[in-house]
Amino acid sequence: MDPVLKVSDIKQYLYCPRIIYFTYVLPVEKKTTPKMEIGKEEHLKTARLEGRRRLRAYGLTEGERFFNTYLFSPRLGLEGVLDMYLAVPRGSFPVDFKNTCRLAVNHKYQLLAYALLLEDQLGRPVRGGFIYLIPLGRAVYVEATPEARLYTKRLLGAIRGLIGQEQFPSLPRRAGRCADCEYRNYCGDVG
Ligand code: SF4
Repeated sequence: MDPVLKVSDIKQYLYCPRIIYFTYVLPVEKKTTPKMEIGKEEHLKTARLEGRRRLRAYGLTEGERFFNTYLFSPRLGLEGVLDMYLAVPRGSFPVDFKNTCRLAVNHKYQLLAYALLLEDQLGRPVRGGFIYLIPLGRAVYVEATPEARLYTKRLLGAIRGLIGQEQFPSLPRRAGRCADCEYRNYCGDVG
């Protein structure tokens, strides 16, 4: 039976498919890096502050915030805990907090996976969501276009394919990523 994937698997797969291999095919213990610890702290701080802020960063005037919502879709075989979602009169928007100044592709598709999950959970269309860049105090809107939705589902298929084939993926094209990677000790071929 296919495993239930986590939304974070999408981010990891786009960062380096080997992380999926080390998570599902040949599970190893991963080391928490200082960068991960700082990220966790910043997330908690942002959630605390968000509760007191207005919605100006999202271009909205009124609405309700929901924090740390567990989402699961049997249809997608996917689960995740969403940092926050905003419920406003014209719809609901997932918000993912990121401790970075730059929106990366893997963050975008992680957010879209949350949008698909939220849609299933609420039973209403979710047209897009926000990535909140913590250091900048700025939210970037990402639209859930039909193409982006399709690509997100294809990523889930590719992750399942990798797990099913049990083949060790080749090195990522950007080997610079390995310097910060918590799985570095398990990859014998990185410099
Ligand atoms: S060390 Fe490099 S190749 Fe190995 S899992 Fe991490 S990013 Fe991928």
